[in-house]
Amino acid sequence: MKIIKTVSEMISSGSPGMGFVPTMGYLHEGHLSLIRRSVSENEKTAVSIFVNPVQFAPDEDFLTYPRNLERDISLCEQAGADILFTPDADEMYPEGFQTYVDLTELTKGLCGQSRPGHFKGVCTAVAKLFNIIRPESAYFGQKDIQQLAVVRQMTADLNFGIRIVGCPTVREPDGLAMSSRNAYLSPEQRKAAVILSQSLQYAKQLHENGENDINILKNAVTKRLETEPLAKIDYVSNIEDVIAIAVFIGKTRLIDNICIGS
Ligand code: AMP
Repeated sequence: MKIIKTVSEMISSGSPGMGFVPTMGYLHEGHLSLIRRSVSENEKTAVSIFVNPVQFAPDEDFLTYPRNLERDISLCEQAGADILFTPDADEMYPEGFQTYVDLTELTKGLCGQSRPGHFKGVCTAVAKLFNIIRPESAYFGQKDIQQLAVVRQMTADLNFGIRIVGCPTVREPDGLAMSSRNAYLSPEQRKAAVILSQSLQYAKQLHENGENDINILKNAVTKRLETEPLAKIDYVSNIEDVIAIAVFIGKTRLIDNICIGS
């Protein structure tokens, strides 16, 4: 596996028919499922690890975001990646940088509302990575459901001509969606965090038992989340038939979602 740190080397190492998996590193099985899927569907796979400063607000966890590049390198290699692109922030945003990509509608609610500027940062970085790597297909997790929708829209709007592949959420045995941020949780908080997936599963069950009213289902999720004293709800919302939640467990903000349709 080739490890690349500069934009110019990445541009000259590109090849047709590449699969691409953008990440912020501290890889877990969720990321690896995306990498393996890309490896199985493409001639070559590039993974990026870039903790993108522009998508973090000043009061967020950019500086403390978990990092372990050595471990990530060996995990990418084992998963079959051909290229690992790990640029520094200066490489992606050199002095004088002033062009940003933003969406007007899809970013209004949910995480876009709770984290102003977040998706502008995500889209700017992803658009740059798309231009630098020029993949045929790019793989994103359904765990970040609004991000997936936003990236699909941006890709269509800006005619990137890249196939965007949404991949299922990988979970811990107790149901907690895997996330690099789970590393922040104390043992007690880790136990409490299972309330996210449990409350979503509960809504799905109610739906399977005949409840079709999305507001009643969202209320049920809220009530269930409120039974956990360590959980503080940021939002319980929906995008069509997907119920999406963001919940603070202590200072750690976790997200999850479930599709209640067929
Ligand atoms: P991140 O490193 O958190 O920015 O995530 C990089 C990519 O991995 C994004 O497309 C995420 O949606 C995806 N991802 C993160 N966690 C999971 C998970 N538990 N299951 C599937 N994909 C995930």
